Amino acid sequence: MKVAVISGITGQDGAYLAQLLTEQNYKVVGLTRSSHNFSKKNFLYLGIKSEIIIEECDLLDFSSIIKILLKYKPDEFYNLAAQSSVGISFEQPIGTLNYNTQSVLNILESVRILNLGTRIYQASSSEMFGRVQSLPVNELTPLHPLSPYAISKASAYWIGINYRESYKVFCVNGILFNHESHLRGANFFVKKVIRTSLEIKHGRANELRVGNIDVKRDFGYAPDYVKAMWLSLQQEKADDYLICSGTSIFLRDIIYYTFDSLNLSRALIVEDPALFRPIDMDDMYGDNTKAKEQLGWDYSRSFFDVLDLLIEEEDQNYRR
Ligand code: NAP
Repeated sequence: MKVAVISGITGQDGAYLAQLLTEQNYKVVGLTRSSHNFSKKNFLYLGIKSEIIIEECDLLDFSSIIKILLKYKPDEFYNLAAQSSVGISFEQPIGTLNYNTQSVLNILESVRILNLGTRIYQASSSEMFGRVQSLPVNELTPLHPLSPYAISKASAYWIGINYRESYKVFCVNGILFNHESHLRGANFFVKKVIRTSLEIKHGRANELRVGNIDVKRDFGYAPDYVKAMWLSLQQEKADDYLICSGTSIFLRDIIYYTFDSLNLSRALIVEDPALFRPIDMDDMYGDNTKAKEQLGWDYSRSFFDVLDLLIEEEDQNYRR
């Protein structure tokens, strides 16, 4: 039986990946910063509560990681833990940079020292590309990050490559573009739009307050994207892969689509300059050819179809 460690197990991707790996008969060890405050919410939702071993592990503490590696000798380590919000990173730049880079360095250094052959997946982000000269971006596009979050992910990305090239540690950077699901954190755009729209529909909110919605992003469906994470660690050689849908849509169109689906008036959309980011990318989408050809990853969903799924699921769960 293969053993996989997943950090950030309580997050959206952690839960879907845990579900995928348990279905494939992995022994899954999930790491959380605090077992005291550990939330079973996502596991209960996906019906996977009993199979996962939960361990408290502070990824900023080198010895905590060493203990986990020695105890479980994992075949695979999926590093999904991070302060993952771009918006919060502008409010907490130091915390974001410290956590998102030091944690990765600690994992790689532990794996290198113990030499257990553990394969590492590092959750990199399309935000690393930032200001680009041309679209779509691919694995060779230079990085020009525009937020503390993006800088932290770019730094972690290069740390991963450095350990791969210098020490032959099997480290894959999966460069993921926005991907959504019912389990997405409430502060993220798509979840916030759908949730607030339902609240308006049921008389519990008066308006949807948003920042700059005249930007375009490449959005996908989280359960499909975690499959690419797993595929990337099954290859002979460690490499970097862009995981994306291949097209971008305006945030404004996501709101209009959701409002129209729920018969809400567009007059209830409030664009608030206070919510604008200090700097933002106008458009971002990627080329997923390498992931499709080399990993055999399959993705062809339109994001409007994904929105239909998410609106329906949120509606069903609204009163629970
Ligand atoms: P998420 O829902 O925000 O979950 C991240 C997890 O990291 C949390 O559940 C938390 O678990 C842990 N964590 C550790 N340190 C943290 C800190 N300082 N602040 C907040 N949480 C912290 O993220 P996700 O959407 O599943 O994404 C997984 C990974 O992919 C992240 O590294 C993210 O940056 C990256 N990524 C995501 C997307 C996307 O669209 N979802 C796109 C590109 C890259 P505990 O509290 O239990 O420790």
